This record gives sequence, structure tokens and C-alpha cells, in this order.
Amino acid sequence: MQDYINVKAFFDKYIKEYAENRDPDSINQYYSDDIFFNGTGANERTIGREDTIALIRKESIVDPYHYSVEQHNIDIKQLCGQLYYLVGYYDIIRFFQEDIEVRMPTVISAVIREAEGEFSIIAIHSQIPATNQDSEEFYPVRFSEEISKEQAMLRESIRKDPMTGVYNKVTAEALIQQILENQHSNTLHALMIIDIDNFKKVNDERGHLIGDQMLIKIAEIIERNFRKQDIVARVGGDEFIIFMQSAGSIDMIAQKAESVCDIFRDNLDRVTCSVGIAVTDTDDSNYRKIFKEADAALYDAKSRGRNMHVFYSGQVFPADK
Ligand code: GH3
Ligand code: MG
Repeated sequence: MQDYINVKAFFDKYIKEYAENRDPDSINQYYSDDIFFNGTGANERTIGREDTIALIRKESIVDPYHYSVEQHNIDIKQLCGQLYYLVGYYDIIRFFQEDIEVRMPTVISAVIREAEGEFSIIAIHSQIPATNQDSEEFYPVRFSEEISKEQAMLRESIRKDPMTGVYNKVTAEALIQQILENQHSNTLHALMIIDIDNFKKVNDERGHLIGDQMLIKIAEIIERNFRKQDIVARVGGDEFIIFMQSAGSIDMIAQKAESVCDIFRDNLDRVTCSVGIAVTDTDDSNYRKIFKEADAALYDAKSRGRNMHVFYSGQVFPADK
């Protein structure tokens, strides 16, 4: 019984060393000279101790993320006097920036030899259920490939407005600010703010659900009608922005704004919108400034009777907005 406790403690320490500390030299001390490694999946591949250590070294460079491991259960069987067979069930958790963590259920089994009170691993096999099994490398590399895809998806999802799928306000602001900071002089960019006219009434008369569907449809239509490099975002309940990068000319921007109003007229059953537009004019444009100007123009469009586009004319009002 004592040996079960010791072998378990040894394996627990190894798993921590392997999954969390990731120090190849420490990990190496747990392996017997004749260790047998087993990969997972259809293209299972056996690699030696040296290759494994080299791989862990490589991973610590290409995959420097922080991991932690949670053990759920461990089964231990004594195969004969000196050999133990262990199967451990874990969640390996990978942490990304911005507090994102991804859990990967993992089963690790090993044969451990005891000689003169010392333990060493003579065979090890890891398996990540539901993982695409076509990689030929030991599990953390494949694991990190899988995770990179998930990471990309997660990153994308936190950048989007959940209801409409266009960028959210924070992301749009960051993207636009970045473009403005890196712009060349004389490049004309435009920011349009689109606000649905009397949307409260639409909700009241047709129901909130229809209102939601309308917002989704609007986002979809706007994205379809603008270029890939234009940034479309939902910045308020019924408010969208479009940042037209290298917009060409004022005429072109005006045409585009009119086409937005047409889209509403053609597709949205008597629901109209107002559009406020500001353009970059100097090298020191920044998001706050251009947004404030487009917002003033939108206010102007609303006051003049809605269902129209208005360019910012130099007067910011309301004054303190
Ligand atoms: P205005 O012409 O002045 O823009 O009038 P408005 O009624 O559209 O007023 P405003 O833009 O100030 O208000 C936006 C309204 O949009 C408020 C709310 O009823 C509605 N709204 C905000 N978010 C959502 C949402 O997620 N779904 C739905 N269905 N309605 C929303
Ligand atoms: Mg509105």
C-alpha cells in the first residue's frame, strides 16, 4: 500500500513537472534510459528519450503559454513486483492573455518501474479524447495546434457583437485608431454612424423580437454592401458605424451613404435610418475626434427630419458631447 502512495506521488510530481513547469532537464530525470514513448492516434509514433526532451525544449519556445493541470482520478495497478501501471485522468488547462483558459481533457497512462526505492517511467502514453489524431508528434505539439485554432475562434468571438456578428464597439475603436495612427497624409477615410429612425416605435409596434431580427438583418446587409477593409461595428442599441478606409472621394462617400439609406428603404419595410459622416482631414485625426464629429452630423440629420445623410460641417453640437 505504501508503494502505491509513493508511486502515485512520483507520478503526480512528474505530471506537474511535465505539464506545468515544462523544464526539460527536470522532466528527463523521471524517465528510465530505455523509456518507451507512445504517441496517440492513427499515426502513432514512438520517439526516444532524447527526441522527447528536444521536443519539450522546442515547445517551451514555440508554445510559451502557461499551463496548469487538474487531476480527476488515477488508477494504479501493480503488474508485478517492480512494475506499476497507472492511468491518470486530467484536465490540462492552458491560459491565454485576457483571462481566456481552455481545458483539454487528457488521459495519461504510464508504466513505472521501482528499483531500490527509486521510481522511473519506462513507458508512457497520452491521449486527448476528441482531438484530431493526424499529427505525428508527441501530444503537446498537437495540443497546441488544436488550441491555437480554438484560441483564434475565442479571440474572434470576444471581438464581435454577439447578436449581429459585426465588431463590437471596443474592438472597432481599437482597429480604427490603429489605422488612423498609421495613416499616410492625404488618405481620405470616412466614419459613418448609422442610427435607425424611431426604432423604439418599431419595437413597440412590431415587438422586440422583430426588432432584434431587424438589427441582425441590417448588420448583414451593411457588411455585404461594403468592402472587406471597411470596418462595420455595432456601437449602441440601434447604432452602427462603418469606417471606410481609403474612401476615395467625398462623392464616393456620399454615394455610399445614400446607398445605405436606399438599402433601408428597399429591405426594411418603411424603417429608415439617419447617417452622420465625418472624414479625416489632417494627420492628427483620432477615433474620438472623428466619432464626435460624425455624431454631431448624425444629430444634425435627426434634427433635419431623419432618413438622410449629413456630413459634419465644422460645428460640434451638442456642445459638450
Ligand atoms: P431616433 O430616430 O431619434 O433614433 O429614435 P429611436 O426610437 O431610434 O431612439 P434611439 O435611437 O434613442 O433609441 C434606440 C432604441 O433602440 C431604444 C430601444 O428601444 C431600441 N433598442 C436598443 N437595443 C435594442 C436591441 O438590442 N433590440 C431591440 N429590438 N431594440 C433595441
Ligand atoms: Mg434610433
